[in-house]
Amino acid sequence: MERDFRMLIDGELVEGATSFEVINPATGSAFAQCPKADRALIDRAVAAARRAFPAWSATPIEQRAALVDKLADALEARAGEFASLLTSEQGKPLDQAMFEMMGSIFTLRAFAAMRVEPKTLREEGGNTVIEHRTPLGVVASITPWNFPVILLMNKLGPALVTGNTMVAKPAPTTPLTTLLFGEICRDILPAGVFNTVCDQNDLGEVLTTHPDVDKVAFTGSTATGKKVMAAAAQGVKRVTLELGGNDAAIVLDDVDPRQVAQKVYGGAMANAGQICVAIKRAYVPEPMYDEFCDELARLAREAVVDDGAKQGTQVGPIQNKMQFEKVKALLDDARQRGTVLAGGEALDRPGYFIPPTIVRDLDDDAPLVREEQFGPVLPVLKYDDIDDVIARANDSEYGLGGTVWGKDLTRATDVAKRIDSGTVWVNQYLAIDPNIPFRGSKQSGIGGELGEAGLHEYTQPHIINVVALEDA
Ligand code: NAD
Repeated sequence: MERDFRMLIDGELVEGATSFEVINPATGSAFAQCPKADRALIDRAVAAARRAFPAWSATPIEQRAALVDKLADALEARAGEFASLLTSEQGKPLDQAMFEMMGSIFTLRAFAAMRVEPKTLREEGGNTVIEHRTPLGVVASITPWNFPVILLMNKLGPALVTGNTMVAKPAPTTPLTTLLFGEICRDILPAGVFNTVCDQNDLGEVLTTHPDVDKVAFTGSTATGKKVMAAAAQGVKRVTLELGGNDAAIVLDDVDPRQVAQKVYGGAMANAGQICVAIKRAYVPEPMYDEFCDELARLAREAVVDDGAKQGTQVGPIQNKMQFEKVKALLDDARQRGTVLAGGEALDRPGYFIPPTIVRDLDDDAPLVREEQFGPVLPVLKYDDIDDVIARANDSEYGLGGTVWGKDLTRATDVAKRIDSGTVWVNQYLAIDPNIPFRGSKQSGIGGELGEAGLHEYTQPHIINVVALEDA
């Protein structure tokens, strides 16, 4: 791809201090150069966001929201170009890349329609107490490589509508869609309101410790999230952490095993399993275990695994070499401990391809069950007691999502209520909606995104408590 990418700083597209290669995971070869910031460029970006803050926060919310809507329109007009770049850098099949673009546009529009209204807490006996919500200032957005566009929009929408300015740092293996979005912003937003900086996993801390950054909005792994929280603590910065997950699917005994296996397969293998709320372990009643596993294996064997740019591809590559090696190591271990029914080996071709893999007969302590695999590899476990399986599902440091599958909705909902996580979906998966809050429990995160609660995360509640002076 013959195209020049630059960072957006203070309304201008700027070169990096240096540059690095961006790899297409379907080929394992570089296809573009990315500018890399240094401390000085990050300082410039933060200073620009700081300078832009007073005027932007004083702009009426209707005008800010209209500009966020305009960003959605501009993204929509170029959705095909974005989707194609997303497939090249991230690996996901083109139709899934387009789906991420449509979700991003929908998310921006949803936030553009939201408002933060003052809330009267008391009005009695001459005392008026009103909670206002004021913007925080400069927000650092730090995003991972699995959904580089929509995860940025989850932060940008609420941050800008509520009057904050932003410096966005994408993951080093998927920086280009964020840079392209910066080009759109240059033509629509006032200089400094939105800025982009790129690194190679080495400059995140400059943002999280920067004295002029007021909030860190982070999505990524739990390990990095802990570092972000520790760094942000020095300045008591506001922080939201959307971290890892190890979501369990609990299949109840009143379902048709084939029907539900097909849905569980979809929830495990979308985006090659690289979704924070992908189904990462499935618990199935003993009497239907064999049939359920066999149906999953059939689907896995039939999957079209190929370059996401090719029409008809259902499962693309793992996004980067490091993650590819991690998933391969989990597979090597799982082969020793359990029975691989389908897949199980990386494909012998360039790029980072692992075919959909179904593993049965593992113990709960197998690394593939306990850890977040973040790849197209699903362990399927057996159970015969509902209380026991709920305890097994909850026996995890993570608590992001989860699914329950059952015909009897009362019973399925009762099971869902006992799963210790931020969201549990019943008879569906990945039903993330910008109007519904999303957040993790335990080590899956702090604070949340989306919905009104997600909007409020970008504001400071500001109480104004008024009484009249008595007559002198
Ligand atoms: P990661 O933690 O390696 O990187 C995430 C981002 O943090 C990248 O931009 C990276 O450059 C940056 N970073 C690295 N070191 C940093 C530091 N010391 N300070 C500040 N920033 C730093 O995560 P990843 O491998 O890119 O993404 C996969 C993980 O993200 C998975 O665990 C997945 O579950 C999680 N995730 C969570 C959600 C959610 O909403 N909860 C959504 C998507 C992904």
